[in-house]
Amino acid sequence: MPTLSMKEEDRDYAVSFALPGDSEGITYVIGRQSCDTRKMEGDTFDRGNLLFGGIESLVIFDDVFVPWERVFMYREHEFTGQLVEKFASYHRQSYACKVGVGDVLIGATQTVAEYNGVDRASHIRDKIIEMNHLNETLYCGSIACASEGQREPCGTYYVNTLLANVHKQNITRFPYEIARLAQDCAGGLLVTLPSERDFRSHEIGALLDKYCSARTDVPAEHRMRILRLIENITMGAAAVGYLTESMHGAGSPQAQRIMISRLINMEEKKRLAKKLCGVELNSERIPRSLRRG
Ligand SMILES: Cc1cc2nc3c(=O)[nH]c(=O)nc-3n(C[C@H](O)[C@H](O)[C@H](O)COP(=O)(O)OP(=O)(O)OC[C@H]3O[C@@H](n4cnc5c(N)ncnc54)[C@H](O)[C@@H]3O)c2cc1C
Repeated sequence: MPTLSMKEEDRDYAVSFALPGDSEGITYVIGRQSCDTRKMEGDTFDRGNLLFGGIESLVIFDDVFVPWERVFMYREHEFTGQLVEKFASYHRQSYACKVGVGDVLIGATQTVAEYNGVDRASHIRDKIIEMNHLNETLYCGSIACASEGQREPCGTYYVNTLLANVHKQNITRFPYEIARLAQDCAGGLLVTLPSERDFRSHEIGALLDKYCSARTDVPAEHRMRILRLIENITMGAAAVGYLTESMHGAGSPQAQRIMISRLINMEEKKRLAKKLCGVELNSERIPRSLRRG
């Protein structure tokens, strides 16, 4: 589907349709991700997340047959702006998904702080409170733009566009701060950690167990696993979704700022301010004959 407002000369690309993913003529060129070859090493804890992962791809449509009943837009370039605006608003509302990742990251940060033996330090506790504050603020934004939505004449519900854009703008920022705080609490071992193969090695495994533990009652392996998960979310394969997709998904930050500037009711805000400080009142009281202009 179109990703921006199009003009007459763009009309060949003003198309929107749905197809089965394996239709003839579609080519997927899979993207390269950070740490992607770790996924090919089997179930080592170096993967960080043993259960889930994802990929992105460049999708090329070359002479693909699309039945008419699956075509939603065909060269109607004059509606592309409206289509993008509505699609983007729904997509911007849907960014509660990052809050779920934030929950995992906060849980991992609390756990590593405990494994490191610093969970009672006041600044660590405060940083974890801050992470929760930011994450729940994001949750509030997603709930707000959905619950402030309106029923359309056709029966479907449309999100509150201003709040959806505000919410997405926060999504371009807060996960980065949450990730920063997670790395702060985790410590530098996050990036200097040896591989699982080294931990299993007869030669140096015992030494790594000894020097990579922070507490006698927590096995070094547990500490390594949780650090790998934080690595995965904040700079490894999952950072694609948690950070960069938060920045650019459903449009880059500037796209939301343009929408916010269009949707805010500035005249109403000015009216309220003027009323409280007496500007409006005074101008009403001045006799018409004495007013300027
Ligand atoms: C991992 C990932 C997954 C994604 N998944 C989806 C998805 O499933 N569905 C979906 O719809 N989208 C998805 N997106 C978003 C989409 O792919 C684009 O990344 C997004 O629309 C931003 O476009 P872009 O990457 O080409 O960046 P650009 O548009 O090139 O933006 C780069 C910078 O240039 C600025 N810029 C661009 N054009 C102008 C201009 N004309 N004037 C001034 N400044 C400009 C932008 O503000 C930004 O700062 C995903 C993105 C990522 C990273």
